[in-house]
Amino acid sequence: MSFSALGLRAELLLAVGEQGYTEPTPIQAQAIPAVLAGRDLMGGAQTGTGKTAGFVLPILQKLAEQTGGTNNRTSVRALILVPTRELAAQVQASVFTYGKHLPKLRSLSVYGGVGFHPQVQALKRGIDILVATPGRLLDHLSQRTVDLSKVQVLVLDEADRMLDMGFIPDIRKILAYVPKQRQNLLFSATFSDEIKKLADGFMHDPLLIEVARRNATAELIAQRVCPVDREKKKDLLAHLITTGDWKQVLVFTRTKHGANNLAEKLVKSGIRADAIHGNKSQPARTRALAEFKAGKIKVLVATDIAARGLDIDELPHVVNFELPHVANDYVHRIGRTGRAGSSGEAVSLVCVDELGLLRDIERLIKREIKKEIVPGFEVDPRIRAEPIVQGKRGSQQQRRPSSAPRKAGAGAPHKAGNRGQHAPRQPAGRAGSRSSRDSGRRTSAY
Ligand code: AMP
Repeated sequence: MSFSALGLRAELLLAVGEQGYTEPTPIQAQAIPAVLAGRDLMGGAQTGTGKTAGFVLPILQKLAEQTGGTNNRTSVRALILVPTRELAAQVQASVFTYGKHLPKLRSLSVYGGVGFHPQVQALKRGIDILVATPGRLLDHLSQRTVDLSKVQVLVLDEADRMLDMGFIPDIRKILAYVPKQRQNLLFSATFSDEIKKLADGFMHDPLLIEVARRNATAELIAQRVCPVDREKKKDLLAHLITTGDWKQVLVFTRTKHGANNLAEKLVKSGIRADAIHGNKSQPARTRALAEFKAGKIKVLVATDIAARGLDIDELPHVVNFELPHVANDYVHRIGRTGRAGSSGEAVSLVCVDELGLLRDIERLIKREIKKEIVPGFEVDPRIRAEPIVQGKRGSQQQRRPSSAPRKAGAGAPHKAGNRGQHAPRQPAGRAGSRSSRDSGRRTSAY
């Protein structure tokens, strides 16, 4: 199928062609006509499926077809809510790229961690498509610096991540500012019951499109587990990068401190690396990402939240230096590789403490991941499992009980600034306790 068969305007076809896309991905083939027809949509699609163009292209077309072009007021016609700053910037970049041959459409991304005032100025000039993280958008709403009363299309991107990050109450508040009559699009890699409940509450007869099996990992990604002792993980990672001559690898740690530590250690071993996480300033994060994309640094070490939404084409290697506490995050993490048709490899360095987490992941993806011991890094069967405690081994990431409220009260007028988007994730109680239950297991249990 070609893009032109989807009913897109010539300006959009031109932009798509310039990106080198020859045919729509499965989510695009299904979503574009449905959005153009005005349907509400629930898209089950993980990152890397091309879902962004799947909703951005038809939104651009619909807005471009309305007479009058950009309105002169501060009202927004399409609102795209995303969980992280990086994703906000990337989605807006896509809006810009795909819409560059269309006249008169203005877009903006607003997120925390950067100045509030420039966003106010930009909003004043009139914005058609606004991409926002929930926290900063609520800041603007409480200061009345944005008007959502003319929103026609609302997109919730990466809804499962929004849920994980505790944004659902914020989203419900935002819903009160948009007109009841509107088109709703929701995208999520996985559909938990909570996501379905949220969707039931605001969507009208949504068309359900699923392009990958529920909770399945992308077929193109080669996955393997390298069993290793916890203290040897850094050496093993350096060994894999050097012997495999890896040029670009995204490495996940559970904590910000762990990310910094690992990046420093890699640099000491002569491997160009940097860390990206919520404690870093936005310019520092943007710079690290740009250097990584440009190949100036080989290894980007990231926490789950920071890595969310990173759009790096054809990333060849993803390493789970530590397995995530929430099994779903594994699917998100490895979705960074093997994107839109290219193959990739995801390697998990698993020590004896993490066997419970590994089992949770294998249960979720409904398959056993191949285990491969790297010569020289055989596990020592005498080492016993220790419970994974946040804050241990220098971690600074605090986890709060799932019932505890977020620090900055959701919804109450709050200071503009770095709020919400990087609130610590709620722990998955089950997975957390499971790893403690593994205490005392021996390495033979891999
Ligand atoms: P997404 O899932 O929206 O994050 O997109 C993943 C990647 O796929 C992005 O780097 C896009 O540039 C790329 N992409 C999107 N649509 C297509 C397409 N039709 N053909 C090839 N690549 C695409």
